[in-house]
Amino acid sequence: MLKKIEHIGIAVKNLNNSNELFKKLFGKEHYKVEAVASEGVSTSFFMLGETKIELLEATNEDSAIAKFIEKKGEGIHHIAYEVDNLDEEMERLKQEGFELINQSPKDGADNKRICFLHPKTTNGVLIELCEEKK
Ligand code: ZN
Repeated sequence: MLKKIEHIGIAVKNLNNSNELFKKLFGKEHYKVEAVASEGVSTSFFMLGETKIELLEATNEDSAIAKFIEKKGEGIHHIAYEVDNLDEEMERLKQEGFELINQSPKDGADNKRICFLHPKTTNGVLIELCEEKK
């Protein structure tokens, strides 16, 4: 079961500039900055009530974020839903006909195990499933 929106990922060109912009918008500072080397991204997180906003900047030109910005420009990149049991949900959604981008869980930012669903099976929306690491 998908429980709630855990965070919304936004692709940005320059993390420092965007941290300043979103600080003005939200009236508060981001609470962490974290690089995920395996994904070629640097991220920052803002907490708004129960939902987080994740800003993502590419750290190399092969990263998915660099390719996304090249094609579509800055903007909403993915929506992440919280799940209790990632392996179970991946299996369930695969049975339902959704295409998983990664076939086994991988490490995401902010202490999560994650999996992405391909946008071609989800009406064009890149969906991330995330489970808090225990
Ligand atoms: Zn994310």
